[in-house]
Amino acid sequence: DSAAALGAERVQAFAERLHGELIRPQDARYEEARRVYNAVHDRHPALIVRAADVADVMAGVAFARQHELPLAVRGGGHSVPGFGTCDDGLVLDLGRMRGIRVEPEAQRVRAEGGCTWADLNHATAAFGLATTGGIVSTTGIAGLTLGGGLGYLARRCGLACDNLLSADVVTAEGRLLTCSEDRHPELFWALRGGGGNFGVVTSFEYRLHPVVDILGGPTFFPLEGDILRRYQEWILEAPEALGAILGIVLGPPLPFLPERWQGQPVIVVLTCWSGPASEDEAIRERLEGLGPVIGQALQRMPYPAINTLFDDLLPAGLHHYWKGCFTKQLTDEAIAVHLEYGRRIPCLQTATLLFPLDGACRRVAPEATAFAYRDANFATALGPSWPDPADSERNIAWGRAYYQALQPHSEAGGYVNFMSGDDHARVRDNYRQNHDRLARIKARFDPANLFRLNQNIVPASQ
Ligand code: FAD
Repeated sequence: DSAAALGAERVQAFAERLHGELIRPQDARYEEARRVYNAVHDRHPALIVRAADVADVMAGVAFARQHELPLAVRGGGHSVPGFGTCDDGLVLDLGRMRGIRVEPEAQRVRAEGGCTWADLNHATAAFGLATTGGIVSTTGIAGLTLGGGLGYLARRCGLACDNLLSADVVTAEGRLLTCSEDRHPELFWALRGGGGNFGVVTSFEYRLHPVVDILGGPTFFPLEGDILRRYQEWILEAPEALGAILGIVLGPPLPFLPERWQGQPVIVVLTCWSGPASEDEAIRERLEGLGPVIGQALQRMPYPAINTLFDDLLPAGLHHYWKGCFTKQLTDEAIAVHLEYGRRIPCLQTATLLFPLDGACRRVAPEATAFAYRDANFATALGPSWPDPADSERNIAWGRAYYQALQPHSEAGGYVNFMSGDDHARVRDNYRQNHDRLARIKARFDPANLFRLNQNIVPASQ
């Protein structure tokens, strides 16, 4: 096998250099350590490095490069295409590197590359501060930020990557660079949307915003086109402190949703109002005016709580196959497609989600960061997720057909973090006018394409 081919002595010497752990196929912890969030990916790496610090990350990158091993970098492990693992290569898992340092006065935080949003939200909420992060708290900050980063606070605070102030990066050469607007600005530009293509980010520094309690939770409506139309009108003119994500799902078995709607296709508006409590009633009124409310659980809660609402619905070990597209306008034709596929949602965990991308996200110029779609109003995720592998074919077929049907009503590219493993041909479209600059930066920092288990940007030929 590939681990044996490396030679036991060489591997042992590598293990002894690490401060963290080296896990091999014969080790008891291998089974657990090789697993990623998406159970579709049942891979068998030759070696798993659970890095303890930057030195371990540098050693891992150097070992993979020297021995020409496929290299999978893992932050939170949530990649739907399974980029955090590989067969016969080296997995560099940052899951032990979760140190966080908040600077409340400067409204900044520095967090290591293995943190999840649960880690970060917990640490900053103690000071009444937050930054845009994902809506499921077990997701890693690394992959999410590097792809762009959508969440409840995006209309008010921008994407997660828009709040990035600096990053420590181990490059393919094995050097550690700290990059920001002033230092290695090209690398810093590429990291903000370019995914894991440019190196291993060992720590992220973010700008924070005052966020304490929010008005949040789900409001359910019947699956009707008018609700989608009114939602679009509302969100695009609503105050930016309103984050309201629209979902099309099967009604979950929750006490506040009448039984006759459970298991039926419904619309859910996931609200997070981080503006003043004095405006709660006005927000509630507009929300309830979208259509007949069939169930609701809207209340004031601490900001971290809204990001844990779906953690139990989406535990590790489900199967996932997602597609993503950007939408400028929800036209009547696009709405008809959502209704058609919404009526045939295959599974309780499956969701179509429309993340609004206006407000602060649109005030960043399209060429200011690698994330290029600053003129879209929504990032749409078509997210089949299912527990039973016997249902794979049905779910994947639904996701593909839905995506095809939406294509004429969508932009050419999609959000890299919602794309599947079979979407490589679309990478150029995802980055539009920024693609060629990214390919040149890739050629400079990773000419041999060591970091290729990602939505891969092929190095420009020199
Ligand atoms: P990983 O699988 O660890 O990594 C993902 C990619 O990033 C891989 O290519 C990997 O090599 C690279 N990478 C990871 N760590 C590093 C690092 N330290 N340095 C360099 N490269 C690295 N996205 C949103 O924008 N908003 C959401 O609200 C949201 N919700 C989600 C909810 C769920 C349940 C899931 C499964 C995904 C969600 N996503 C969301 C998509 C999410 O952004 C991507 O899945 C993201 O890639 C996850 O990052 P990770 O670190 O957990 O994943």
